[in-house]
Amino acid sequence: MDLDLSATDSFRAEVRSWLRSNVPATPLPSLETEAGFAAHRSWERSLSEARLSVVTWPSEYGGRDASPLEWLVFEEEYYAAGAPGRVSQNGINLLAPTLFLHGTNSQRSRFLPPMASGEMIWAQAWSEPGAGSDLASLRSSASRTDGGWLLNGQKTWSSRAAFADWGFGPFRSDPSAQRHRGLTYFTFPLDAKGITRRPIGRLDGKPAFAELFFDDVFVPDSDVIGSPGDGWRVAMATTGNERGLQLRSPGRFTAAADRLVSLWQSHGSASDTAMRDRVADAWIKAHAYRLKGFETISRPGDVGAESSVNKVFWSELDVALHETALDLLGPDGELASLDGPDGEWLEGYVFSLAGPIYAGTNEIQRNVIAERILGLPKSSGGRPAQTPRDKNSLAGGR
Ligand SMILES: Cc1cc2nc3c(=O)[nH]c(=O)nc-3n(C[C@H](O)[C@H](O)[C@H](O)COP(=O)(O)OP(=O)(O)OC[C@H]3O[C@@H](n4cnc5c(N)ncnc54)[C@H](O)[C@@H]3O)c2cc1C
Repeated sequence: MDLDLSATDSFRAEVRSWLRSNVPATPLPSLETEAGFAAHRSWERSLSEARLSVVTWPSEYGGRDASPLEWLVFEEEYYAAGAPGRVSQNGINLLAPTLFLHGTNSQRSRFLPPMASGEMIWAQAWSEPGAGSDLASLRSSASRTDGGWLLNGQKTWSSRAAFADWGFGPFRSDPSAQRHRGLTYFTFPLDAKGITRRPIGRLDGKPAFAELFFDDVFVPDSDVIGSPGDGWRVAMATTGNERGLQLRSPGRFTAAADRLVSLWQSHGSASDTAMRDRVADAWIKAHAYRLKGFETISRPGDVGAESSVNKVFWSELDVALHETALDLLGPDGELASLDGPDGEWLEGYVFSLAGPIYAGTNEIQRNVIAERILGLPKSSGGRPAQTPRDKNSLAGGR
């Protein structure tokens, strides 16, 4: 691998300079509140006016045809600048790559430009009360009607669905087909007739999720992604992005590791070698993930099951990094009212604890790694090991 990044220097300089002039001096209110959501939406509009919201997309959809390497550079600069969280993340990182693979031209033209500008913010509506890890057991249904489908059932844990505009997810369209075979992938406006959304408070009380109830919600054929019955294959395209680089790029962790080093410099004690080693370990792991990111984008083809390795790695790193920061801060670190940048570690820590759960729990990722990368036998019943391409028999994994 040629690690010469000089070809990206002018792009990096442009991004850095724009962020320096535009990142709000005081952090925006939390995007998990109504006011914060609106503030983050307007931040997305500014990013998009600078053509920085979706740099790798074709220009016709609001991007600038940047390379994956430039995207990694953008992410590094974005997090290093302490720029606001991306309220459009579910759309731009999860649904958009799925639309590029499985959407129609008309869907791409309708959905991608407003997604890029923050006018259309998306929520992922996959999990159900009885279908989390084992997504293929989902029961929310889609039945045929004139010109489209009627959706019924319940989804849960839908991040940002309390305030988002549209949702996407799989529904059971063929009740006679086995598990993953009878699913179809839908998009729907969250204010459609028949949808009730009930916000769910997070640990800190903010309505970061919502439950969604569907009561004969009409969706036209034109809003189905992929073919009817092909929802599992479409969903698998989303999960690769969710667990791979897209959802949590290396820049997020290298920026946090640099902040941790600064915290060590201000709060650490030279004699505390155990703490120093934890700081160094987090920094090294963040930079290892960065190098792995370069390797991943340099390789042709789909990352496949390897995205599960990424997911376990970044989520465990995030917990360790934040735990180390709180230990460095001592009892003050637990004060939610702690001012300035030190106050962000507690919220970051609490959120990091969710990392091993969302985007498919780490237990499920370890099953994927064991069965599909290492070729180990399934633990139950002595059945033969799945091959790496035996995607459809994979149980669950979100
Ligand atoms: C912060 C956050 C944001 C989220 N956002 C969204 C969202 O936007 N949209 C959405 O649809 N969902 C979202 N989720 C839900 C998330 O995808 C699920 O919580 C996750 O898939 C686990 O499902 P579950 O909660 O039903 O737990 P379960 O599947 O019931 O699992 C319970 C426990 O059993 C373990 N387990 C289950 N099966 C196995 C197995 N085969 N082998 C070993 N261990 C197993 C799991 O690892 C877990 O520890 C979010 C969750 C969190 C925490």
